[in-house]
Amino acid sequence: MSLQGRDIQIIGAGIAGLTAAIALAQRGARVAVLERAPELTEVGAGLQLSPNAVRVLDALGLGLALDAASLPSHAVRLRDRSGADVVRMNLGSGHPDGRFRLIHRARLIALLADAARVAGVDIKLAQDVVDFPQPSLLIGADGLRSRVRTALNGREVPFFTGQTAWRAVIADDGGVPEAQVFMGPGRHLVSYPLPAGLRNIVAVIERHDWQEEGWKHADDPANLRAAFAGFGGPVPDWLARVHETNVWGLFRHEVARVWQDGQKVVIGDAAHSTLPFMAQGACMAIEDAWILTACLDADMDQGRALQRFESLRKPRCSRIVQAANDNARNYHLTGPKRLVGHTVLRLAGRVAPGKLLSRFDWIYGYDPIRETVS
Ligand SMILES: Cc1cc2nc3c(=O)[nH]c(=O)nc-3n(C[C@H](O)[C@H](O)[C@H](O)COP(=O)(O)OP(=O)(O)OC[C@H]3O[C@@H](n4cnc5c(N)ncnc54)[C@H](O)[C@@H]3O)c2cc1C
Repeated sequence: MSLQGRDIQIIGAGIAGLTAAIALAQRGARVAVLERAPELTEVGAGLQLSPNAVRVLDALGLGLALDAASLPSHAVRLRDRSGADVVRMNLGSGHPDGRFRLIHRARLIALLADAARVAGVDIKLAQDVVDFPQPSLLIGADGLRSRVRTALNGREVPFFTGQTAWRAVIADDGGVPEAQVFMGPGRHLVSYPLPAGLRNIVAVIERHDWQEEGWKHADDPANLRAAFAGFGGPVPDWLARVHETNVWGLFRHEVARVWQDGQKVVIGDAAHSTLPFMAQGACMAIEDAWILTACLDADMDQGRALQRFESLRKPRCSRIVQAANDNARNYHLTGPKRLVGHTVLRLAGRVAPGKLLSRFDWIYGYDPIRETVS
């Protein structure tokens, strides 16, 4: 009951901010979300959502809307750059109660914004928040270049990982709803279908001459095709159909040292921006939103509730961020290491396919709804 009638401001109407707004408003808080953009548009791109995040969306009453807006993901299929299968991890049998979904970011944002408005949240657009008035609580869900994070931690310098990613969405007639990862030396390409006849492509290469962070940088699709010219299977056909692409230098940001000061708190990318190699950035943001709400609702003492939130989230998010850092290496193996790595995976896939996925039970099996918050 601690949230009833409390005034809360959230900066940023991304996945973290909107999910937190819904959760807080559903428990009786009066929530305003301040968003810099003049409208809620999104760079065209897909997202994989795993059960740890979907459990939260279900608990917020968004399960049916999510199902209508997304596809189920049946497997993660690792393939060599030639297209030969290395291993297929079946998501259905590995997690009978788990829902893995594939969704377009714009659809997820629209779904969350609608639910937030229904819950009574006031979303104010075209608000570039520069300094922070002190309401009873300010939540910084302001993403990668968070000003709230800087206010709590001072200025920090991320470092370039030497990797660059292209993102594209193409028209496609569907195909099996699974995420496919094509692994080559120093590069990999991830692709999965999206609803409405679309397909998402993320292609990563090791390259040191591009160091801009952010999705606004358009690139010539010919550069993407040239970088993946040696790839087989369906990749050449997909890349031939890319008409627009954006490129992004991948930077490693440390997990924030300080998450809160008793009045301000950071969530989502603002607290723990991650490399995309575990597909968990948005999922962690959604988990944060639920746990923060639960902590605040369980304890009238805001300072103590925020400390509890930080102590619950920091270890888990740090571990996921580290797993994503490690995965980059695994996908890009070269020479003998690559041969050995792929052979081990093939064998493991034959002998104990369930084991490959159960390594990640600590991520996907986590249920934020059951977390002990007080
Ligand atoms: C290549 C790639 C693939 C990915 N794939 C996946 C995936 O499959 N699954 C997954 O879970 N995650 C994935 N992610 C990560 C995911 O996209 C992010 O972690 C997630 O979007 C973070 O959400 P957020 O709300 O914290 O931040 P954002 O989405 O960045 O939202 C922040 C919002 O704050 C606003 N804002 C910023 N500053 C201000 C200000 N001063 N005043 C007002 N408003 C402000 C911004 O305009 C923005 O709307 C991927 C990321 C990349 C790069």
